[in-house]
Amino acid sequence: MTKPPAGHQVGTACPLDCPDSCSLSVSLAGGRVVALDGGHANPVTGGYICGKVRRFGERMYGSDRLLRPGFRIGPPGTGAFRWVSWEEALTRVADAMREARDRWGAESVLPYCYGGSNGLLTQDTTDARLFRRFGASRLARTLCASTTGAANQALYGKMPSVTYADYAHAKLVVIWGANPSASGIHLVPFVREAQRAGAALVVVDPRATPLARLADLHLALKPGTDVAVALALHRHLFENGLADEAFLEAHTTGAGALRARAREWTFEHAAEVAGIERADIARLAGMYAEASPAVIRCGWGLERNRNGGNAAAAILALPAVAGKFGVRGGGYTLSNSGSWSITKTWIGADEPPTRLVNMNHLGRMLTGSPDPPVKVLFVYNCNPLSTAPHQNLVRQGLERDDLTTIVFDQVISDTARYADIVLPAATFLEQYDLARAYGPISLQMVRPVVDAVGEARPNVDVFAELEQRLGLDRPGEPRDELEMMIRVIDGLPEGVGDAVRANAPAAPPFGTAPVQFVDVFPRTPDGRVHLFPEDLDREAPLGLYTYQPDPATDRYPLALISPSNEKAISSSLYELVRKPAALTIHPEDAHAREIGEGDTIRVFNDLGAVTCHAAVSPAVRPGTVALPKGLWSRHTLNGSTANALTPDTLTDIGAGACFNDARVQVERAAGGADRAPAATGAETRPAALQAAKRIH
Ligand code: SF4
Repeated sequence: MTKPPAGHQVGTACPLDCPDSCSLSVSLAGGRVVALDGGHANPVTGGYICGKVRRFGERMYGSDRLLRPGFRIGPPGTGAFRWVSWEEALTRVADAMREARDRWGAESVLPYCYGGSNGLLTQDTTDARLFRRFGASRLARTLCASTTGAANQALYGKMPSVTYADYAHAKLVVIWGANPSASGIHLVPFVREAQRAGAALVVVDPRATPLARLADLHLALKPGTDVAVALALHRHLFENGLADEAFLEAHTTGAGALRARAREWTFEHAAEVAGIERADIARLAGMYAEASPAVIRCGWGLERNRNGGNAAAAILALPAVAGKFGVRGGGYTLSNSGSWSITKTWIGADEPPTRLVNMNHLGRMLTGSPDPPVKVLFVYNCNPLSTAPHQNLVRQGLERDDLTTIVFDQVISDTARYADIVLPAATFLEQYDLARAYGPISLQMVRPVVDAVGEARPNVDVFAELEQRLGLDRPGEPRDELEMMIRVIDGLPEGVGDAVRANAPAAPPFGTAPVQFVDVFPRTPDGRVHLFPEDLDREAPLGLYTYQPDPATDRYPLALISPSNEKAISSSLYELVRKPAALTIHPEDAHAREIGEGDTIRVFNDLGAVTCHAAVSPAVRPGTVALPKGLWSRHTLNGSTANALTPDTLTDIGAGACFNDARVQVERAAGGADRAPAATGAETRPAALQAAKRIH
């Protein structure tokens, strides 16, 4: 495990929060990364990668890179630091944690991490060991996938799902609440291959995504109404003798209860609720009942609302009711991260029964009166000021004088600007890791290809050192990334670790392209699909397979969605985007407000306001507006982003984020005749953005 010599191309893998986990070919010169492209070790990568990671070298060597530890000077938000040694920084971090524990109890320390890396080493190794032994508050990681994950667990026990290559075998592909052209791009060629072979494509999404424009049918429903459409499909199947009764009898429980809950959802009722044509729902119902193989790509866009869990459960139940399993290219795809049956035995410390904090409630926790109060916030792999809901409350919390905020990151993010202590983190090109895909089924070693820039250090090493300083280490335990890498590989299921060690393709016992109900089966205790799990029925406020009405009001009639795009992975890599953000608004909604293309506008509700430019386009349905997920403060004219408008309410199932339940009004800003710079000015930073930066 030595670093490769410079001056040529070397292979590694991408562990970022993306379903694909590409194999990478990295070009080096003079000890620096000069280019990144796709490799071939992971066949799904096929030699190409996304435009985001192609630019990763700019993150490593860019002006936003955090090069050494620092202590903030000046008020929170200025991002000005006095640079110090690691020794000084870690002494102060350990002192802050110790003091908080002695005065307020260990739960006054809140670790906060999510998705900055999906690697098996950079999260839930020495970090978990440290915080568990310390007795810190625990974090419920719910910004994404907790809702769909809860539904998938209850119905199928997270059965491995259809992998990308098998989409080429489908006769009908339904992309529901996902935009593979931006996230998980390697699915797209297989969808196109299926289309060339005669398959029909249906996209269910409020936006005209690139695949929606190529689809035979696009259902541009209102955000939060997916459950209504899915239940109308169930009703059609059950009431017209199209349900696969033999399959239901042999492999499921709860079909009767699902059928009863679906009964009220006629096509007319669903069409009225979802704001789409009855005929379009009827057409999808007919296509789905008829086609085989038929596959549904269930995305994460449909979960981010008050009905998200019910929507996910209803959609995931469709292939069971319609009898779409048992054939290659048929079934459903959600996350395949559970395919490996990995239990993180390497953490080496049991989870204590300490306070569990839902990460969507960061603002409340920092500004409310929890007992004990949060006195130390330790942020890593995460940029919550950009990504957590109720941004103004989060910001208010970060401004507290009596809070010690530590941010361990690769770049000076919006959150890092508020940190009392910053610690520079190594990137995945500077450290070891293990990349586990959750679209395709693959597991690859990530290798350091260059020395870390500045004084950046791997997560594993820093948390192990803190553990030592706090007297929580134990003899013989892994203390650095290499030792931990060996421990993690040893802890992988039988045969998998050997393959990873030998840099050979790793596969679970059922292979990397399982057919559902041939090679893999529900991992529920009785091996059946639970179509009506009682615990979900108890958890959902109105019960399972129910619909909570739209939260729009006369004052705030527009649904704001904040989807990911092809420029960044949530907030990661957004520092490289210089173009100001624009709110996409349908021409009808723009016309009603006398808003023109490029106008300066104000998007607002009772939680906050965003000042930005308008992009007038039919790419979103009327009544819905869109601002990208993960923007940084520099991308808008007032430093606020979509999360200044998102509520911190929770989904019906899985306690997830309700980003798409934001309801807003839009108006031309005072002096709103200002037009955005032309698209060609994308790489320039307008004066207004410089002004926005000064705010923070
Ligand atoms: S972000 Fe996704 S598509 Fe891009 S390189 Fe990483 S795994 Fe591949």
